[in-house]
Amino acid sequence: SSATLWNAMDEYFVERLLPADPVLETVLAESAKAGLPAISVSAAQGQMLHLFARMVGARRILEIGTLGGYSTVFLARALPADGKVVTLEADAHHGEVARANFARAGISGKVDLRIGRAIDTLPLLEAEGPFDFIFIDADKPSNPDYLTWALRLSRSGTVIVCDNVVREGRVMDAQSADAAVVGVRRMLDLAGADPRLVATAVQTVGAKGYDGFALLLVE
Ligand code: SAM
Repeated sequence: SSATLWNAMDEYFVERLLPADPVLETVLAESAKAGLPAISVSAAQGQMLHLFARMVGARRILEIGTLGGYSTVFLARALPADGKVVTLEADAHHGEVARANFARAGISGKVDLRIGRAIDTLPLLEAEGPFDFIFIDADKPSNPDYLTWALRLSRSGTVIVCDNVVREGRVMDAQSADAAVVGVRRMLDLAGADPRLVATAVQTVGAKGYDGFALLLVE
């Protein structure tokens, strides 16, 4: 099937291009052991986030949606010694698992994990901004609010990545009653209409199936 092929191709790339990484494997294994859902980015996508953060020379990164901290590790490793990633997570159990994973990965000093609904914790970040790179990957119905906050916490040159904007093509459905689809569509409408943003979206296949991400640059 297509999914099997995409998965095999992803593995091929990861084997050849990414260094073997026992720490990242442990982060995933510990997350699974603690009962967290397997909805982190893939290794190839995590490396893409790492590359984006380095390409923009990010010193301050904001992540909305931590889970077990898998993507956070890729992001934290892109930072200079004095860099910081602020990562927001609503679920206290996910937060505990992530915190232990940050210690295992040796990145605790670079990560500021805030537990609480992002809509409540984002307003507390105004003194910490602007952020250089922002990764939006939490509850999809809130994507329009997260984009609004991301812009508020940005500067000219900030790059914003918003995950899961394809959902196997379901995002095209204007009649959808799925709150995640509605949230993604509204976020894309906002992004496309905002004169401060240069925007595109990229469809992806791989270990996580058929999905994609929006890529936004603040003018
Ligand atoms: N970025 C992670 C990675 O790739 O490893 C995956 C994040 S997972 C897709 C989404 C996370 O957002 C979950 O851990 C969930 O608990 C969290 N979340 C859901 N609603 C939230 C909210 N209102 N505020 C903050 N986090 C929320």
